[in-house]
Amino acid sequence: MAIVDTAEIVIVGGGAIGAGVAYSLAEAGKSEVLLLEKEPQLAAVTTAQAAGLVGQVRSDVERVRLAMWSVKTFSELQKTAEAKPAWRQVGSLRIAGSRARAEEFERLKATCDEAGLEVELIDAQEAERRWPGMTLTGAEAILWCPTDGYLQPADLAMAYQHQARQKGVRFKTGTPVTDIVLRNGRVAGVRTPAGEIACETVIDAAGAHGWHVARLAGLDLPIVPVRHEYVITVPAEGIRPEQPCFRVPDATLYGRPDVNALLLGGWEPAALSCDPRDYGLAGEPPPIAEDWPVLANFAEFMAPYYPPVGSLGVRHVFSGWPTFTPDGRFIVGESRRVPGFVFAAGCNAHGVSGSAGIGRHLVEALFEQNPSDYVKSLSPDRFTENAWDWADARTKAQAVYETYYHIGH
Ligand SMILES: Cc1cc2nc3c(=O)[nH]c(=O)nc-3n(C[C@H](O)[C@H](O)[C@H](O)COP(=O)(O)OP(=O)(O)OC[C@H]3O[C@@H](n4cnc5c(N)ncnc54)[C@H](O)[C@@H]3O)c2cc1C
Repeated sequence: MAIVDTAEIVIVGGGAIGAGVAYSLAEAGKSEVLLLEKEPQLAAVTTAQAAGLVGQVRSDVERVRLAMWSVKTFSELQKTAEAKPAWRQVGSLRIAGSRARAEEFERLKATCDEAGLEVELIDAQEAERRWPGMTLTGAEAILWCPTDGYLQPADLAMAYQHQARQKGVRFKTGTPVTDIVLRNGRVAGVRTPAGEIACETVIDAAGAHGWHVARLAGLDLPIVPVRHEYVITVPAEGIRPEQPCFRVPDATLYGRPDVNALLLGGWEPAALSCDPRDYGLAGEPPPIAEDWPVLANFAEFMAPYYPPVGSLGVRHVFSGWPTFTPDGRFIVGESRRVPGFVFAAGCNAHGVSGSAGIGRHLVEALFEQNPSDYVKSLSPDRFTENAWDWADARTKAQAVYETYYHIGH
């Protein structure tokens, strides 16, 4: 096949993660970068479905810092970029429905304090003032994070693209990668319908096709798509876009304003995954029909905290197949088995909010002398150098999803 183009680094996939990686590489001074996206535009697949919540309160310091890095990036893009991510730093409320949860909030606060993230425990009146219509007097505790917020995921991808282009990174849409070229066991290029593109490094940011793209290089990793969905209601009296995001972990719910409507999503107790081996590189994960029993539960579980939800009709359902890993961690870094093959995969359903942080970790993994232990722990080698099987991997990946809001997750 004729070589039609050359780049130092080719990124496969132009969702939030691929675009965030392109931006991070550009910021790190790498301009010989080409991003290939098979769809006619960026952010057309999972990223297009995302709710855009950006939460920094996590149970370990590294993850809090990763999310803080993303927030710093979103704030900078919102301030300076011509193409803006529509970032709204409205804060977030985390509502405890049990004593055990309130104790967890104390621990989360200590973790945030250690990471340097401002959070405070506020009373019900203060929280109700921030979200008119909520009834929170029964809440055991409420944690307020003033620097959280939400953005428009597709706008974020455009903002990344705009900034990365200024620094020389190229983007080609409508261009599927159909094969990886290996020479002497290391990456030498990618194949597309238009011809071969020579490169030294390939970054797999192909979302629900992450497993397939890795297979092209002979690698087998547990990148498991798990269904996720949320609703947007009809406009509701009193909801304004500047109200905060909220999370009610005991009811496994999250939400935010969507202009004057309510966006409400949740983690399902019985997750539905699919096996990437059941569809091909050129195929798609199974279509998702609205699961009304699950979606109705969201409203039912939310009603004690926000009674008006019961009377709000659903205007739109969003859903998709974000990928999960059996240990709930991102896969970031170069494979020891195939030099030049790099992963930015396994988003664990926070790939939009995590995108800038993932990009930063990738730069650290690839170009820094001594990456941190945390970054090393995200290496794909943890799967390729250890035995695992699909049935177990799917069970564990689903469990990560199902326990997303469990205490200590
Ligand atoms: C309902 C829902 C709500 C969510 N809410 C949030 C949220 O509030 N906050 C948050 O942070 N995350 C959220 N997520 C998760 C978030 O959407 C994902 O983590 C994120 O979009 C993953 O980005 P990605 O770039 O890995 O995947 P994708 O956006 O799927 O991008 C992968 C890209 O690779 C391309 N591709 C695949 N194969 C090839 C190939 N062979 N050649 C070229 N291109 C290829 C695809 O076309 C696709 O565009 C949500 C997800 C869902 C489904």
